[in-house]
Amino acid sequence: MSLIHSERIATVASQLAKSANDVLFITPGADLRYLTGYDALPLERLTCLAVRSDGRAWMIVPTLEKPSALAHGVPDIGIELLDWQETENPYQLLMSQVGAIERPLVNNLMWVEKAFGIQGSSGVTVELAGKLLSNIREIKSAQEITFLHEAGAAIDEVHSNMDKWLRPGRTEREVGRDIAEAILAAGHVTVDFVIVASGPNGASPHHELSDRVIQAGEPVVVDIGGTMPSGYCSDCTRMYVCGQAPSEYVEHYAVLLAAQEAARQHARPGVTCESVDSTARDILTSAGLGDQFIHRTGHGIGMETHEEPYIVSGNQTLLVPGHAFSIEPGFYFANKYGARIEDIVICTDTGISSANNTSRELVVL
Ligand code: ZN
Ligand code: ZN
Repeated sequence: MSLIHSERIATVASQLAKSANDVLFITPGADLRYLTGYDALPLERLTCLAVRSDGRAWMIVPTLEKPSALAHGVPDIGIELLDWQETENPYQLLMSQVGAIERPLVNNLMWVEKAFGIQGSSGVTVELAGKLLSNIREIKSAQEITFLHEAGAAIDEVHSNMDKWLRPGRTEREVGRDIAEAILAAGHVTVDFVIVASGPNGASPHHELSDRVIQAGEPVVVDIGGTMPSGYCSDCTRMYVCGQAPSEYVEHYAVLLAAQEAARQHARPGVTCESVDSTARDILTSAGLGDQFIHRTGHGIGMETHEEPYIVSGNQTLLVPGHAFSIEPGFYFANKYGARIEDIVICTDTGISSANNTSRELVVL
């Protein structure tokens, strides 16, 4: 992996060189893992990567984290590893190696206290690295695409077994607990979210598990995801009903299915992200469901469940091969029910490949 990571560091440095910024600081999180392979814990003690536009790179870690950084091969990537003792000032130590800086970037999810630490020790104002990093991270390599397909297959396996857990008389929480176990059993290392939203709870797109007892005949939104050992995430929504769904719901669902399929057919290199959104939205709107589709059509996915590119009105980014994102239109009727159909897809040379491949029909259990 270390060749991949040294190439990524070199890419970041060359992008920095083309920008008005001279250095990039990154604390633990998906950006750090992407660039170095080190999934360091976000702790109060400072761990921070610094990359200069000339390609030189340092990482400072607390002395007690040094064995972990070594085990992840940080020095093999060409990063100079520094460690700091409990009573030292890690910011001063890092700056003494990096030298004078003018316009530093920091990762968007850096804790504010760390960003203030960098500003305090360098005397310059930090700016956000989000765009520079997402421009690199949003285009997935062949290996990353394989990882996303593996994640998709793992979550598909969980959806395929839903009849074992989801039935009337059980609470959302009971069903959710079984699903969480299955997410791990399918190969994920973490359960990132489990949404089991029955009946009226389905009207809240990000409903959390409750003690509500699932009833026969009510639609249940199941939106689940986790992170694989590779670091790549899964995210897939399917709709279930135990027994007979209300006929009006079945009609709405047919429109949603057509909208999701139309967006899947539309997505290809050269079309804008917002046109994927409008393709789904126009179909729902012309069936009178536009006001019930209360969120964007999708989000990018990779080492984070939500990242660029966002499939939303106003995003004129053109899709290119390697873009990975969700297509997940829905409709939500307050106090009644909701629905969403979600796949992770990857833009290919001619269209998309789908990481999720279980039936998108309303599954009757
Ligand atoms: Zn999603
Ligand atoms: Zn989802």
